[in-house]
Amino acid sequence: MRLSDWFFPPKCVSCGQVISDPDSSRVFCRVCLSRYYEEINSPCSFCGKTYVECCCRPAGFLPDGFVYALPYDREMRACSSLILFSKSRKNGDVIGFTAECCVRKARRLAGIPEDAVLTYVPRLPEKVRKYGIDQAEELAREIGARLSIETVRTVRHRSGSAEQKKLGAADRTGNAEKSYVPVGNLGKLIAGKTVIIVDDIVTTGSTVNACTRILRSAGAEKIICLSAAKRDRHTEPLV
Ligand SMILES: [Zn+2]
Ligand SMILES: [Zn+2]
Repeated sequence: MRLSDWFFPPKCVSCGQVISDPDSSRVFCRVCLSRYYEEINSPCSFCGKTYVECCCRPAGFLPDGFVYALPYDREMRACSSLILFSKSRKNGDVIGFTAECCVRKARRLAGIPEDAVLTYVPRLPEKVRKYGIDQAEELAREIGARLSIETVRTVRHRSGSAEQKKLGAADRTGNAEKSYVPVGNLGKLIAGKTVIIVDDIVTTGSTVNACTRILRSAGAEKIICLSAAKRDRHTEPLV
C-alpha cells in the first residue's frame, strides 16, 4: 500500500468502489478482478479459443500480424470499463495494467524484433485537447518501456478529419483513408523495419488499415497491430 492511498484510495475502474486490498490489484476490486479473469478466459464466438489465445481479426485487415489483449463488448463489463476509463483519464496503474496484458500476449504470439519501430494511431487533436490524453500514445509508451523500444509518431491527422466513432461501417473506410498523413521523413524512420502500431480499440479495422497503407508505402517491411481491445462484432476468424 502506498502512502497516497490513505488520501486517494484507488477505485475500481468497473464498479467505482474503493479497492480494499490495493496490493492485489490497483485497477479492479476483488469482485471485478475475478470477473475480468472470467471474461478473458471465456471463448471467442468465432474461433472457440479463449480471449487469452484468440487471434481473430476484422475482415480485410491489412497488417501482417495482429494481437489484441481484451474483448470489447457490452457484456464484457470489466474489460470494457478498463478501455473506456483510459479514454478520459490518465492513470498510470490502469495504463500499466493494460500495457502488461498487451505485452504478455504479444510476447507469446508475435515475434517482435529488437529493432522494431513502435508507433500508435493518433487521436483527433480536438479530443486530446478535450480529454487531455491520447490513450493509444500513452499505451504505446508503456508498452515501449516494457519492450525497451522507443515510441515514435509516424502518422498524423489531416486537419479537419471527422471522428470515426460517429460514422457507420461503410463510411469509416472512406473517412479513415483521407484522415491520416505521414509525418516528414517517415521513410528514413521505418524503411525495411518491423513497425508495431498500437491502438486502443479495433472495430472495423479501417483506421489501422489506413495507417498500414501509409507505413507500407513508406517502406515498412512488416506491420504488426497491437491493440488493447477488439470489438467482438465485425470480425471473422483468421484463416
Ligand atoms: Zn469493482
Ligand atoms: Zn477468436
